[in-house]
Parts: sequence; structure tokens; C-alpha cells
Amino acid sequence: MRILLIYTGGTIGMVHDSDSGTFIPFDFENLQAQIPELKQLDCELEVHSYEPSIDSSNMHPKVWIQLAETIESAYDDYDGFVILHGSDTMAYTASALSFLLENLNKPVVLTGSQLPSGVPRTDAKENLITAIEIASSYRGGKPVVPEVCVYFEYQLYRGNRTHKVNAENFEAFASVNYPPLAEAGVHLKFNRTAVKSWREGSLIAHKNYNPNIGVLKLYPGISESIVKNTLNHPETEAVILETFGSGNAPTSPWFLKAIAEATARGLLVLNITQCVGGAVELGRYETSKSLKDFGVLSGQDMTFEAAVTKLMFVLAQTEDASERMALITTNLRGEMTL
Ligand code: ASP
Repeated sequence: MRILLIYTGGTIGMVHDSDSGTFIPFDFENLQAQIPELKQLDCELEVHSYEPSIDSSNMHPKVWIQLAETIESAYDDYDGFVILHGSDTMAYTASALSFLLENLNKPVVLTGSQLPSGVPRTDAKENLITAIEIASSYRGGKPVVPEVCVYFEYQLYRGNRTHKVNAENFEAFASVNYPPLAEAGVHLKFNRTAVKSWREGSLIAHKNYNPNIGVLKLYPGISESIVKNTLNHPETEAVILETFGSGNAPTSPWFLKAIAEATARGLLVLNITQCVGGAVELGRYETSKSLKDFGVLSGQDMTFEAAVTKLMFVLAQTEDASERMALITTNLRGEMTL
């Protein structure tokens, strides 16, 4: 098996800088020195390092496009891809890649660690070695996990279903609305029914994104001016409305009027819930019925990360409003349950 290891940065390759007292990105050679087992793996490993490596809080859609391009140009030469990435925004990159890489039929496994590879109790070694094993898992000539996924602390998740839930524990990620694709114990146990099936078709790597989105997170007492400023920003083409429970929002006349005017003007409003589990059900309560009537779209059980990256992807695909709405409400890459 030939695996391309793409190193973008993150704690997994960081070192402690005694001058500043912080963790700073370091190069891949450091990681290889810390994990000599990499040389013993039963696969051919090649490395593509991003220079300079970055803390993932500096992640940007431009890098998502670069990653899609790197995978596209190496696609035929490798059996799988492992992306080393900081955990902070890993769920965004995994979600973005799932949309950018259409017809993906090979494993793209993102991983990282909570502690740098050189620290005695590090989680880097297990995460990296198992991620490589997953990317090299083939049965009957076909990859076992032909999709973008995140491996962290013994769990493999569908990438666009993940959310970073913990900055302290080694179990940093959760996928509340979709079961794990695999669990690593003594054996690597794949959940075959949860993994996307292999499909015919060549990879299409999309290379455009449109960042003109806004986010309106509701909270009791949110002011009219905050709501209006977000909905009426001149560059904004779509807004994620982060609602309560199963998609509920205040019923104050000024709030409903602001939403009604925004959608009537052509602004796309996508409703996702602030809850980490469960889905938006527009019209279940009186407090979401008007949103439905005003044309607010249901994000179902999508994560915030999937909603952000899906909107950036969809807005770049077409300028036609009804095509955009159709794409947003379609389950494109297993990111939502319909
Ligand atoms: N700040 C780091 C990053 O996201 C944290 C990590 O790697 O887990 O790049």
C-alpha cells in the first residue's frame, strides 16, 4: 500500500518554545524522529509537508483548496491519504474536504493529537499509526473506508459529522448524530453499514469556495440591531441561524419581520440547532412554524462545521437561488440525515 501523509501542522508536530512558553509549529522531521515506528509500518509512506506548518486556528479555505489539489494530483499514485492537522479546526477541514472531493473513492483520514509527539504521555503515536492502518485497509481490492474521516482516540468518525468537544481529554471529538465508522481495540473493527459505499466515477476536486456567509446565534435577549446587522450585511449571501432545540426561535414580531424581510430579499437562511444531538424539525413547535413559512431552510442534524463549509461550497457552485436551495437541502456527502 502507498500512503501519502500530508502534514499541515498542529500539536502533533509542535515543540515547546521555552522563550515564549507556548507550543509552536515545527517541521515533519521532528515528528518522524519522535515516532520511529513510522519506518516499520508495512506500507510505503511518502510525506508532503506544508511550509510553514500551521496551528489550525490559522486554517483558511484557501488551504482546503490546496489540500483538495494535492489529493487530486496524487490520487492515482496512492491508495490512501492521511492528513495531520491541528484538532481545533479539524472538523471544519474534514467537512470542507468531504464537499470539495466529489466521487471520492479512497480513504482520506485526518488525525492529530492533544499532546505533542515528543511528550511521554502523547496520544500522537497511536493516532497516527492507526490512521495510517485505516488508510491502508483494503478488502477485495477496494478501500474499506472510501471517505473523508477523522480518527482520534480509538474512534473513526465520518469527517463531516464531527465536532471538537473537549480541549483537555484525549477523546477530543464526538459524532453525536452518526455512529463511528470504526473502533480501534485489539482489532480494528469497521462498522460496515455506517461507511459510505464505494461508487463508480472519477474524482472531481472542486476548487472554489464563497466565504460570504454569516452566523446568527440566538440567545435570550438578543437585540434587534444585532439581528438586523447580521441579516442585512451587504456581502452576506447566506446566514446560518443557530436556533434552540428542534429549530425554535423567538416569536417577537420584530424578529419574525426581520427574518421575513431577509428571505424575501433573497437571503438564504439555514436553520441548525445549538444542540449537539438531534435535528431541526421546522413546524414541530409554534416557535419554528413561522420560520418555515418564511422559507428558512432546515439544516436537519448537520453540525455547525458541516453547515459552514457546505454553504461556502454551495454558494460557489451556482448563483441561481433555487439551485442553491436544492443543494443545501440535499444530503450531498452523508452530512445530514434526511
Ligand atoms: N492549537 C492546536 C491546533 O489546532 C491544537 C491541536 O493541534 O490539537 O493546531
